[in-house]
Amino acid sequence: MLKIKNLHASVEGKEILKGINLEINAGEVHAIMGPNGSGKSTLASVIAGKEEYEQTNGEIILENEEISELEADERAHKGVFMSFQYPVEIPGVSVTNFMKTAINETRKAQGLKDMPAKEMLKKIREKSELLEIDRKFLSRSLNEGFSGGEKKRNEIFQMAMLEPKLSILDETDSGLDIDALRIVSNGVNKLRSKDNAVVVITHYQRLLDYIVPDYVHVLLDGKIVRSGGKELAHKLEEQGYDWIKEEVKVEG
Ligand code: ADP
Ligand code: MG
Ligand code: MG
Repeated sequence: MLKIKNLHASVEGKEILKGINLEINAGEVHAIMGPNGSGKSTLASVIAGKEEYEQTNGEIILENEEISELEADERAHKGVFMSFQYPVEIPGVSVTNFMKTAINETRKAQGLKDMPAKEMLKKIREKSELLEIDRKFLSRSLNEGFSGGEKKRNEIFQMAMLEPKLSILDETDSGLDIDALRIVSNGVNKLRSKDNAVVVITHYQRLLDYIVPDYVHVLLDGKIVRSGGKELAHKLEEQGYDWIKEEVKVEG
């Protein structure tokens, strides 16, 4: 589904990603961990195509198509979804109406007509039931006065409605409380399928008790220095990152 080769990227002229290689297949969940400032959010942003981040080398291949030159919205239309650490407030636009617009924008980009209203309502009903989102929430104004948990609920609802191929959830700095943690992990687990893939970026092992990853990668100073199974996350929880830093230093 996604192949990243020798990815280098800079922010404001400073190189942050220094040669990332990563391969993600449909049906897999990958966790990316690493100390603060190691480049996790940068990696997510570069994959999603955020414009502040300059890809200086390497390839990002989504289903056999090189997407490095595409704008963020074009990548989104091809099925790349990224959660927002700091979602914007849009007063006066309800969760439902925002979602309808997002779906129809995507369809337009794919050369399709608007989704018929009846089908849209059915889909909203199905997905909100799956995620246990109540009707009142759907008519709330987007992100206005949302609690941390409600922001997460909205994000996961977007993911459910848009049915992305690849979801990148950057939870690093969001300080998930237990309620938000439950919403994100239940949502992701319900939306996992053999046809999609999820990348969970997290500073904390705790989230990975709920969303069990197939692979764990450790990012250190802009490079993936270790990859393993979920046991790697447990080891990091117990021993921190220092042992990896030492090993990497010794390896030169
Ligand atoms: P992580 O998510 O692993 O904590 P980041 O990707 O946020 O790491 O940051 C990696 C490095 O890139 C840091 O040194 C950070 O200061 C820098 N950086 C990230 N985004 C920006 C930005 N928009 N402007 C300036 N520097 C940035
Ligand atoms: Mg950070
Ligand atoms: Mg981050």
